[in-house]
Amino acid sequence: MSTAIDDRFLELHAGSAERAERARAVFPGGVTHDVRLFEPFGIVYERASGPRKWDVDGNQIVDYVMGHGALLFGHSHPDLVAAVQRQIERGTHGSGTTDLELEWAAAIQRLLPSAEKVRFTSSGTEATMMAVRVSRAATGREKILRFNDHFHGWNDSVMTGGAGLSRAMQSVMTFLDQTDAAGIARELASGEYAAVILEPTGPHWGAVPLPPEIPAELRRLTAEYGTVLIFDEVVTGFRAARGGVQERLGIRPDLTTLAKIAAGGLPGGALAGRRDLLDQIAPNGGGSRVLHPGTFNANPLSAAAGAAALAAVAETDAVERAANQARRLTQGINEALVRAEVPGSAFADASMVHIVLGPDLPRPDDGFSWDWDAVGGARSSMPETPAAVMWPFRRAMLNHGVDLMGMAALVSCVHEDAEIDATLAAFEASLADLRGEEIL
Ligand code: PLP
Repeated sequence: MSTAIDDRFLELHAGSAERAERARAVFPGGVTHDVRLFEPFGIVYERASGPRKWDVDGNQIVDYVMGHGALLFGHSHPDLVAAVQRQIERGTHGSGTTDLELEWAAAIQRLLPSAEKVRFTSSGTEATMMAVRVSRAATGREKILRFNDHFHGWNDSVMTGGAGLSRAMQSVMTFLDQTDAAGIARELASGEYAAVILEPTGPHWGAVPLPPEIPAELRRLTAEYGTVLIFDEVVTGFRAARGGVQERLGIRPDLTTLAKIAAGGLPGGALAGRRDLLDQIAPNGGGSRVLHPGTFNANPLSAAAGAAALAAVAETDAVERAANQARRLTQGINEALVRAEVPGSAFADASMVHIVLGPDLPRPDDGFSWDWDAVGGARSSMPETPAAVMWPFRRAMLNHGVDLMGMAALVSCVHEDAEIDATLAAFEASLADLRGEEIL
């Protein structure tokens, strides 16, 4: 920590540094989510509004983490605040069915035709856990097919990597590269799989774009071999398109996992899909069924926010606006890379922007579609920004008032031109900082 970027970072963030000691003493690693780990310490935020947030040192930041993707409408959108305020005075837990819960489910069904039935959970992790359990109950099979680097939350049914996972549960998961069509065909033909689960954009919401032939082939093969097809649309639901990736691809999965935007920025998730599969959870006159408790399932505050957010998804151009601003951002970043003669690329799927700095990658002309031919066909992985570049780059971006989610940006419908312009100026200045220190 002795470069100009680092000195500036320490200068701007004395209040966060002071709190970091206390945070490390009480929180493992000093944070409460792995994505928030930061070097030399995490920034402590005080408040947020629209596309911006303010840290305890008074720095104003354009935010692209956006509630880890939950905030399509920006921080504290007045309509969502009003919906939650109305409800908090009317009770936070009815311990029964509520009109809001019915309204929330209807809003999901309106946008997602595959949602014949819906079950609410408290997070995306719980939704994927339930998706796997329902699939096992319906098929009587144990095995799960999933793809390298695709992320489905932190439950043992779908997680890999890190310590403490059940070896028994790992042993019933098969991992394939997302482009391994032959492997997919071979595994599914065994007839042993309860489910296949995927991020239908490719891992990390399109960081390695998935060619659309793969989900189409998965649909065909899972139908043939009686395996449940689970689209994990926790991030992409109501963002990739109003009706998620499934709408764009014209593919109807058997089950869809939802969270984030679905709950309007409050905690919440859902499993949605085929009636017969969801009805594994329903009482069935004495036979064994899938049990599903959960104190805060469909809690009225999340239901109020979720119903209001999804109504706005259906009735406004929020999804398109966010995607258009992401396109501006991506194009601007690519232009800046060309000007600075720095290898790298920015590309986006709807309002999900990915940035690679260092490796020499093609740059999509329209800032949007990934040109598979230019990179020699479909990929199972992408060259990454080296850590020795990423950390100083992210510190530099924060110094210039921009917070990214790793090397990605989740754009909301309230990121106006002013925020995009400020971000592009910060990007250009950060590239210059890194060049100045011979990091790039
Ligand atoms: N699935 C995907 C694709 C995700 O990106 C995430 C979280 O980022 C999850 C599932 C887990 O959701 P949650 O963080 O709400 O548990």
